[in-house]
Amino acid sequence: MIYYGKQSIDDSDVRAVEEVLRSDFLTQGPAIERFERRVAEYCGARYAVAVTNATSALHIGCLALGLTEGDLLWTSPITFVASANCARYCGADVGFVDIDDQTYNMSVDALEQKLRSTDRVPKVVVPVHLAGQSCDMERIHDLAKRYGFAVMEDASHAVGADYKGGKVGSCRYSDLTVFSFHPVKIITTGEGGMLLTNDAELYEKLRLYRSHGITRDPKLMTHAADGPWYYQQIDLGFNYRMTDIQAALGCSQMERLDEFVARRRYLAARYDELLKDLPLRTPYQSADTDSSWHLYVVRMDRDRIGKSKAQIFDEMRARGVTLNLHYIPVHTQPYYERLGHRAEECPSAMGYYAEAFTLPLYYRLTDDQQDFVVENLKAVLT
Ligand SMILES: *Cc1c(COP(=O)(O)O)cnc(C)c1O
Repeated sequence: MIYYGKQSIDDSDVRAVEEVLRSDFLTQGPAIERFERRVAEYCGARYAVAVTNATSALHIGCLALGLTEGDLLWTSPITFVASANCARYCGADVGFVDIDDQTYNMSVDALEQKLRSTDRVPKVVVPVHLAGQSCDMERIHDLAKRYGFAVMEDASHAVGADYKGGKVGSCRYSDLTVFSFHPVKIITTGEGGMLLTNDAELYEKLRLYRSHGITRDPKLMTHAADGPWYYQQIDLGFNYRMTDIQAALGCSQMERLDEFVARRRYLAARYDELLKDLPLRTPYQSADTDSSWHLYVVRMDRDRIGKSKAQIFDEMRARGVTLNLHYIPVHTQPYYERLGHRAEECPSAMGYYAEAFTLPLYYRLTDDQQDFVVENLKAVLT
C-alpha cells in the first residue's frame, strides 16, 4: 500500500539520537539550542524557539501576540484545525478568509475585502502555506501595516520552501512563523514544532510560555534573587519543551532538508508531466514561490469524470494506493458550526472540498511507485 506521506530516517539520524541518549541531557540540554540556531540560520531569522509540536507553537504564538478573550483571529478554512484552534485556546474568536481558486491559499483579495467591510479588525491573521507554497506574504504584510494586525505564518508544510528570494521562516513579512516536525511533514523530530521571529520581545515571551512562565533572568524578576537557587514564575506558562533526543534528530534531519525538498520538487514536476492528459487540474505555482511540496493536490474535473470522489478513493485503495484529502473546510467542522459558522461563508473552500484530493508524495517515493500511482489513477478516472 502506498500512503500519502512517510518520513525518511537514515543511519546519520539514528547515530545523532544515540549520541544524545548516551549523553548527560535528555532534555533542557545543548541539542535544543543547536537545533534552534541551525533552523534560524537556515531561514535567515534572528530567533527560534523549539516546542513540543506546531499546535503548541501556534498556541504560545497567539499568547505572545497578546491574543485574549474578546479578540479575533482570522485564518484559512483549508488547513488543519490547529491553525484555528490556537485562537480558541486563548478565548478569542475565529474568522475564516476564503481561499484563492488557483493557489488554494488564503485569498489576499478576500482578506482585503473582508477588512474593508468589517468594523471588527482581527488582532492576528494566520496565513497557511498550503502544500508548501508560500502565501503572498508581501501583500499580507502591507495590509497588516495598514490595518494594524499581527501576522503568524502557519508554515507547517513549508520548511525549506522559498518566497521572493528568501526562505519561508525568515519572518521578513510576519511577526512569527510556525513549523511542524510531525513525521508526515518535510523533516521530522517525531513530534515537534518551532517558532521563528526577528522580535526580541516576542522571543522572550515565547521562552517563558514554553516553560511554565518561569525565568532565571534577573532583568525579568520583580526583585533581586534570594540566592543561587532562585527563579520566579512571572506569568502562566506550560511545559511545551522539546526533548534533546528530538532536537538531535532535528539537527540531523536539517542536514538532509535540501535533499528532501529537491526530491519532492522533482517528483512534483514529474507528476505534472505524467498527469497532463487526465481530467485533473494539477497544482498552480506562482512565480514568486518555490514550494517545498509537502502535498501534491489535484482537482478533478467533475464534468469529465463519471464517479464520485468517494468511489475514486475506494477504487484506488483496492489497487494499493491510499489517496488523501487536505482538508475538510475547518469552518464546517461541528465545533465551528456550533460557534455560528456556516458553509456559505467560504464558497471557494467548498468548491475545493468537492474536487480536491492528495496524491502520494514523499522523499522515499520511487519513480516506479509514482508510475504505479499514475497508471492506476488513469485506469480509475478514464
Ligand atoms: C500538521 C499541521 C499542524 C499541526 O502540527 P503538529 O506538529 O502535529 O501539532 C498545524 N497546521 C498545519 C497546517 C499542519 O499541517
